[in-house]
Amino acid sequence: MQDPRVFVVAHPAVLDRLARLRDKDTPTPVFRTLVEEIGLFLAYEATRNLALYDATVQTPVAFASVRRIAPRPVVAPILRAGLGLLPGFLDVIDDASVAHLGFYRDPETLAAIPYYANLPDDLGQRDVFVVDPMLATGHSGSAALAMLARRGAQNATFVCIIAAPAGIATLLAAHPTVRIVTGAIDEALNDHGYIVPGLGDAGDRMFGSTSSVPVSANAS
Ligand code: URA
Repeated sequence: MQDPRVFVVAHPAVLDRLARLRDKDTPTPVFRTLVEEIGLFLAYEATRNLALYDATVQTPVAFASVRRIAPRPVVAPILRAGLGLLPGFLDVIDDASVAHLGFYRDPETLAAIPYYANLPDDLGQRDVFVVDPMLATGHSGSAALAMLARRGAQNATFVCIIAAPAGIATLLAAHPTVRIVTGAIDEALNDHGYIVPGLGDAGDRMFGSTSSVPVSANAS
């Protein structure tokens, strides 16, 4: 039985876009648009239980009892590929604060190497959504969640397009209260840490590049 902390958004609008993302012949601009659109659907599901408060606004006709989101959620894309999910997330929650977390994968050890972090201070009371299209080994996701927890975050959700069972297990073992919202759970990882069948390197396919290791990290 599926772990209740893991939610698969198996909506036809997501599944059909995922099919096109997986196709190796989908060109970069189309790939990027599809990631953005799936990001909106995933965000819609991931934010379903955000806290609301009651308020009143005056319409042109009368007073109306309304409900507003508070406090402002935080969305934290893991650079680079997480940036692809950001526009769709902001389409759903337009005033979310955006944090940025830079990790790249050491191609040999597959360890998550941090290279950038920009986070708001007041994370304690806020829902935090870490977004990254691929949950593979779970190393960068787990490191990102640990960094956010050290800064006070208590309520975190990891949002991805495809998750591998190993990545889910790593994340839940290190962060037992995290929720995972994903478009699909694939079979396994290959020897290079890529998800099988997956869709290849999401960052490279989104940005038309051939390596996700920052240049400065390669400089001798
Ligand atoms: N990152 C990707 O972009 N793709 C994978 O399959 C695994 C990690």
